[in-house]
Amino acid sequence: MAMISRTDFTRLAIRFYGPATLLIGLALACLPLWAGPLPWAGLNPVVVIDPGHGGGDSGISDPRGEMEKAATLKLAKALAAALAADFNMILTRNDDYKLDPDQRAGVANRARAAAFISLHAGTGKYPNRDSIVIFVRKYDTYRPGGICREAYPDAPAVWRSNQLEYQDKSMQLARILAASFERLLSPGVKVSVRRAPVMVLGGVKAPAVLVEVGMLLNTPGKEARINQRLVQALKESLKEFLHGH
Ligand SMILES: [Zn+2]
Repeated sequence: MAMISRTDFTRLAIRFYGPATLLIGLALACLPLWAGPLPWAGLNPVVVIDPGHGGGDSGISDPRGEMEKAATLKLAKALAAALAADFNMILTRNDDYKLDPDQRAGVANRARAAAFISLHAGTGKYPNRDSIVIFVRKYDTYRPGGICREAYPDAPAVWRSNQLEYQDKSMQLARILAASFERLLSPGVKVSVRRAPVMVLGGVKAPAVLVEVGMLLNTPGKEARINQRLVQALKESLKEFLHGH
């Protein structure tokens, strides 16, 4: 009977385990290219909330000196807590630091977001205090800069056209949001949907809207009540949009 020597055994082991190790290595190397939902993303859809501004970019401030960057972060955190049971909530920033529009969109794209909502709280060009404007990305009159006078260099053309294929879905999300805001915040609050060349939405590969809540967040005495209703409206809208109920 032929005995397998120690040298033969080593050769056999290399012959078997070599390709096996190679295959495992290749599988691990390919993981970042995985096309489906990320294995750790859980069963709930990923919702990315983007608190506008941050760091040296404070946004607008109200007469009391409260800054937009703080108001949007507060609302985003309230939203993340309220929606954690239904969605996998991700914030583009969870503290006071600056991000450029591509970094914000990149968070959504890396997480394979099912929806992206950028939050702003300002009057901007729409000086009605009690108004909510929901923006979806407009492509025919693109100009760099976007709204809120964010002076960032233009993004590459390919990147900023990411939103093109999601325009209909984004409009659908905007209309659902508008209906919820009207139901929960009217009368007295004017709600509208507009198309604008909003820079942060251009790079997002998901249904995406920018919600600008006028000065509502910063209205003394009303803030907590309004915040609560905003959170409720956003929660109901996302459930309808992503879960169909
Ligand atoms: Zn803003």
